[in-house]
Amino acid sequence: MDTRELYQEVILDHNRSPKNFKKIENPTSMAVGHNPLCGDEITVSIIVEDDVVEDVGFQGVGCAISQASASMMTAAIKGKPVDAVRELFEKFHRMVASEEETDLDAMGKLAAFGGVREFPARVKCASLPWHTMKAALDEVSETVVTE
Ligand code: ZN
Repeated sequence: MDTRELYQEVILDHNRSPKNFKKIENPTSMAVGHNPLCGDEITVSIIVEDDVVEDVGFQGVGCAISQASASMMTAAIKGKPVDAVRELFEKFHRMVASEEETDLDAMGKLAAFGGVREFPARVKCASLPWHTMKAALDEVSETVVTE
């Protein structure tokens, strides 16, 4: 399966049944993200205990790509140490937004978004949930705007 097919399949799948689409009671931190180019809005709430992401949820409205990316992101970071999550953020960001070669095999299912680089307008949709999650980890309280 090439990246493009994988991309379409994953996005359809996560829109049909998004993971962790929920409000978390008593999150240790949360952040709101907004992508004005597309109209995507997302709230990420997170529970960090002993430097591990114990739980994470997202809510919001947006295009299929932003929703699928949020769903996959939450699935990818839940249960992981914060350090590993920050590393994954960097890798994901590099994969979708830089010219550098990415080892897609090392990205697991997130490799589906490797193809988004070809569609610059969509990069912000795919990366919005990640930036919002990082803001929550950093406990930045203002709204994240991708522009
Ligand atoms: Zn979007």
